[in-house]
Amino acid sequence: MNIQYNISLRPFNTFGMDVHARKMVTIEHEAELLTWLNESSVHDETLFILGGGSNILFTRDIEDTVLHNKIAGVEVVNEEEDHIYIKAGAGVNWHSLVMHCVERGWAGMENLALIPGNVGASPMQNIGAYGVELKDVFHELEAIHLHQKEKVVFQLKDCELGYRESVFKNKYKGQFIITSVTYKLNKKPVYQTGYGAIQQELERMGVKDLSIAAIAQAVMQIRRSKLPDPSQIGNAGSFFKNPEIEKYQYIQLQALFPQIVGYVLAQDKVKLAAGWLIEQCGWKGFRKGDAGCHEKQALVLVNHAHAQGAEIIALSQEIIASVKEKFGVRLEREVNVY
Ligand code: FAD
Ligand code: NAP
Repeated sequence: MNIQYNISLRPFNTFGMDVHARKMVTIEHEAELLTWLNESSVHDETLFILGGGSNILFTRDIEDTVLHNKIAGVEVVNEEEDHIYIKAGAGVNWHSLVMHCVERGWAGMENLALIPGNVGASPMQNIGAYGVELKDVFHELEAIHLHQKEKVVFQLKDCELGYRESVFKNKYKGQFIITSVTYKLNKKPVYQTGYGAIQQELERMGVKDLSIAAIAQAVMQIRRSKLPDPSQIGNAGSFFKNPEIEKYQYIQLQALFPQIVGYVLAQDKVKLAAGWLIEQCGWKGFRKGDAGCHEKQALVLVNHAHAQGAEIIALSQEIIASVKEKFGVRLEREVNVY
């Protein structure tokens, strides 16, 4: 365990916000976390949990104690004829876990390659990309209740995983620290190549024999070509969720905007591509000071160098208002704001 005071969080968040934490406690083992939580001096402290910092926009200095979760370790905990169960510590880097599994032929996570951040946050918003969501490979997780200081095991149904949602983002917000997640992977792969540009990229790569390694490579290539690299330009990925509307509203919008991008979901709902809506309002590539909208993907807001969190929020509010005015659709933020 390491305790630091008055520390800049700039290296700890991919938006590159230069806010300060009054106190940051770095935890590497579950046992030391429990011991520390039980110290009497900690009882009055309010805590903020930080993983890889890739889905957070800091708008102010942090008075709460920042609990930086770096619990490591990856192990096989169970094996069946068709499945393998992998338990990973919350501080394990997500992409390195994906590649660990891909290299061993354990299938299910390959479409989720190159998502930044750590294992512990993967259930927080049920991370998703290219037609796969965390819930497709989730088995269970362990978390510690920050006040009761007890370990709780959550099964899939307990987590209420939805589109970029979970019980931890809503009902249990701020109450638990996730310490490990166990994933159920397939020994016999079920390939998912029908989404976005995966098939096209596999053809461009000249792949003859499909494999999970080839899919992971294709996903990485597409992501590198489209998405801003946080080491080059501050961002937290998609700033907004793709809005879901009723099918009748979609038909009305289609009459007005024939090019509108939407995907039909179950129960007469349609998911609109928020990036397209934002682009149509003229925001793609927009820059005001150091706050901007990425030139290749309008869904991603960026910090060119020294933007403040408040400037990014102000830009997001202008975008929300213009999309509402043009399309009558309300965008919601995906990024966590502190
Ligand atoms: P953090 O940003 O550190 O934390 C996020 C939230 O989870 C905070 O509220 C924090 O308090 C809480 N939290 C973190 N760890 C724990 C824990 N152990 N216990 C309890 N609460 C915790 N997301 C996708 O879903 N799909 C994508 O394709 C995708 N692409 C991205 C691309 C880029 C370039 C970037 C920058 C981001 C992208 N994201 C994507 C968003 C982000 O990478 C994920 O949401 C990721 O899971 C966040 O992990 P983190 O460890 O960085 O979380
Ligand atoms: P894209 O492929 O250009 O597609 C644009 C949008 O259309 C995506 O948001 C996606 O929704 C939706 N879409 C595309 N094909 C679809 C299909 N066959 N069925 C249903 N919906 C479809 O998107 P992109 O920006 O390059 O991102 C690619 C993937 O990575 C997407 O899944 C995206 O969610 C994910 N991603 C997420 C983040 C983040 O921070 N959350 C950042 C970057 C990329 P979905 O978003 O619902 O998949």
